[in-house]
Amino acid sequence: MEKKDLLRALPKIDDILRLPVLAEADLPLPVLTDLVRAYIDSLREGILQEKVTALPEKDELCRQILAQAKEKALPSLRQVINATGVTLHTNLGRSCLSEAAAKAAYEAARRYSTLEYDIEAGARGSRYSHVEELLCRITGAESALVVNNNAAAVLLILSCMAQGGEVITSRGELVEIGGSFRIPEIVQQCGSRLKEVGATNKTHLRDYENAIGEETRALLKVHTSNFRIMGFSQSVPLADLVALGKKAGLPVIEDLGSGCLVDLEPLGIHDEPTVMQSVKAGVDVISFSGDKLLGGPQAGIIIGKKFWIDKLKKHPLNRAVRVDKMTLAALEATLRIYLDPAEAVKEIPTLRMILEEESVLKEKAQKLCDKLAEKQVPVSLLQDVDQVGGGSVPCQFLPAWAAAVAPENCSVDQLEERLRKLPRPIIGRISHDRYLLDVRALWEEDFSYIAEKVGEAVG
Ligand SMILES: *Cc1c(COP(=O)(O)O)cnc(C)c1O
Repeated sequence: MEKKDLLRALPKIDDILRLPVLAEADLPLPVLTDLVRAYIDSLREGILQEKVTALPEKDELCRQILAQAKEKALPSLRQVINATGVTLHTNLGRSCLSEAAAKAAYEAARRYSTLEYDIEAGARGSRYSHVEELLCRITGAESALVVNNNAAAVLLILSCMAQGGEVITSRGELVEIGGSFRIPEIVQQCGSRLKEVGATNKTHLRDYENAIGEETRALLKVHTSNFRIMGFSQSVPLADLVALGKKAGLPVIEDLGSGCLVDLEPLGIHDEPTVMQSVKAGVDVISFSGDKLLGGPQAGIIIGKKFWIDKLKKHPLNRAVRVDKMTLAALEATLRIYLDPAEAVKEIPTLRMILEEESVLKEKAQKLCDKLAEKQVPVSLLQDVDQVGGGSVPCQFLPAWAAAVAPENCSVDQLEERLRKLPRPIIGRISHDRYLLDVRALWEEDFSYIAEKVGEAVG
């Protein structure tokens, strides 16, 4: 057909919208109309550029529009299946909540609540009351406050405690976490000056001591959450830093990063300090994340001496970084589980995944392999290693087991892409020309879905 005939033959938007099959598209009419218009526009553009030389048949046209409509109807923020083996995958949402915590968030979301209402007094209450007692009981701290995330916690703490003065920090602890959050820049942002002491590998107590001056407002310790300095290295024990702070009349602040509430050392996870150790050492103000090793919702938890926590509660910035009711509900439910640490390691998905026995992982991977084999997927059991992720346990590899798929009818990259682009995506990893489904962060109830989709993708 000639260009002008093709253009003339282009279907009308209204005619397409009247096609009964489009009722299947679960989209509001204005959105569907825009989509159809964009579709016809792209056809017209194609004709003008001589890339389109024939119009699609009606069935094909409907199929294409419906496919686009279905994609548009999917929520952008949606569930994925994490087959990467990384438990605290920041891009995939870090911690998955326990059933109790997820339910609490759901209930708080859909009805009114006691968020800032004191039932006893019949008057205004405090939003922090719901978790403060729990946090104090679990950690041994005097007082507690919760904000939006740990980055906000650090911002609030430094703005409140160090503005207009200096903070002393070791050169070995000038951490950068993801998303351009760097300790030196944060200190500056808070209107404070950073006084770096020591060397990259070694900092001594005398380095802090010699740096203290008129302008010093606080001593800051930052947990090197996502890296370690090894070899000829030394940092100052917390207790010594606290003693120095006391002597000099300066508060000691600690950004703990992950914030672990159970001692993981006897359970085989090394070098993750607990929050309780910092409280015991006498640190004045400690902050950590709610959704890293703690296994709760995104939150910044601040605990410490009542004198300082009271100041933080009253600081104007606190209002700007305040935590919402769904988070508080989920955090309260998560913390309640920690009242019995034995329960916590079973009920909190993050802890359960990280601490999973290797034999259990192997069995789980074998089960997945069997399911995949039923769908004619060329698969074998593979031993590998996992990292915890999310700025926690940076130097320890955990034993891992995976179902390794070696597709015959497509490339490994094609397989990866097909699974990633599913309405409910499966995110695995590629290693040595095989597609790995690592079972650590999988739920067994998803195995049938995974087997079916991988079966279709390799078929
Ligand atoms: C992760 C981390 C933060 C930021 O915590 P978010 O809860 O992600 O805001 C700050 N400091 C350290 C040392 C961290 O590891």
